[in-house]
Amino acid sequence: MALRITEDCIGCGTCVEECPVGAIVESGEIFKITDECNECRACVNSCPISAIVE
Ligand code: SF4
Ligand code: SF4
Repeated sequence: MALRITEDCIGCGTCVEECPVGAIVESGEIFKITDECNECRACVNSCPISAIVE
Protein backbone atom coordinates (compact mmCIF):
# COMPACT_ATOMS: atom_id res chain seq x y z
CA MET A 1 0.00 0.00 0.00
CA ALA A 2 2.65 2.50 -0.99
CA LEU A 3 1.78 6.15 -1.18
CA ARG A 4 2.22 8.23 -4.30
CA ILE A 5 1.65 11.78 -5.48
CA THR A 6 -0.77 12.22 -8.35
CA GLU A 7 -0.41 14.47 -11.40
CA ASP A 8 -2.77 16.92 -9.67
CA CYS A 9 0.15 18.08 -7.52
CA ILE A 10 0.63 21.85 -7.80
CA GLY A 11 4.19 21.74 -6.46
CA CYS A 12 3.49 23.84 -3.37
CA GLY A 13 6.06 21.94 -1.30
CA THR A 14 3.95 21.77 1.86
CA CYS A 15 4.25 17.99 2.11
CA VAL A 16 8.04 18.13 1.91
CA GLU A 17 8.22 19.93 5.26
CA GLU A 18 5.90 17.38 6.85
CA CYS A 19 7.96 14.33 5.94
CA PRO A 20 10.21 13.23 8.83
CA VAL A 21 12.51 11.16 6.63
CA GLY A 22 12.94 13.41 3.60
CA ALA A 23 11.16 11.01 1.29
CA ILE A 24 9.43 13.67 -0.81
CA VAL A 25 11.54 15.16 -3.56
CA GLU A 26 11.07 17.33 -6.62
CA SER A 27 10.37 15.54 -9.87
CA GLY A 28 10.05 18.03 -12.67
CA GLU A 29 7.19 20.41 -11.89
CA ILE A 30 5.64 18.13 -9.30
CA PHE A 31 6.91 16.09 -6.38
CA LYS A 32 7.31 12.37 -5.84
CA ILE A 33 7.66 9.98 -2.90
CA THR A 34 10.81 7.87 -2.82
CA ASP A 35 11.54 4.43 -1.38
CA GLU A 36 12.64 6.15 1.85
CA CYS A 37 8.94 6.51 2.73
CA ASN A 38 7.92 4.63 5.88
CA GLU A 39 4.20 5.23 5.26
CA CYS A 40 3.73 7.32 8.40
CA ARG A 41 1.13 9.36 6.46
CA ALA A 42 2.14 12.68 7.98
CA CYS A 43 2.12 14.15 4.50
CA VAL A 44 -1.30 12.99 3.41
CA ASN A 45 -3.41 15.51 5.28
CA SER A 46 -0.94 18.32 4.66
CA CYS A 47 -1.68 18.40 0.95
CA PRO A 48 -4.20 21.20 0.19
CA ILE A 49 -5.57 19.38 -2.84
CA SER A 50 -5.39 15.78 -1.58
CA ALA A 51 -2.87 14.75 -4.21
CA ILE A 52 -1.20 12.14 -2.00
CA VAL A 53 -2.98 8.81 -2.34
CA GLU A 54 -2.54 5.09 -1.60
S1 SF4 B 1 4.03 8.86 4.45
FE1 SF4 B 1 5.46 9.76 5.95
S2 SF4 B 1 7.49 8.99 5.33
FE2 SF4 B 1 6.09 8.69 3.59
S3 SF4 B 1 6.35 10.50 2.31
FE3 SF4 B 1 4.59 10.89 3.68
S4 SF4 B 1 5.46 11.96 5.45
FE4 SF4 B 1 7.15 11.00 4.33
S1 SF4 C 1 1.38 19.24 -0.63
FE1 SF4 C 1 0.26 18.28 -2.35
S2 SF4 C 1 0.24 19.83 -3.98
FE2 SF4 C 1 1.79 20.45 -2.49
S3 SF4 C 1 3.74 19.58 -3.31
FE3 SF4 C 1 2.87 18.08 -1.85
S4 SF4 C 1 1.64 16.68 -3.13
FE4 SF4 C 1 2.02 18.53 -4.34
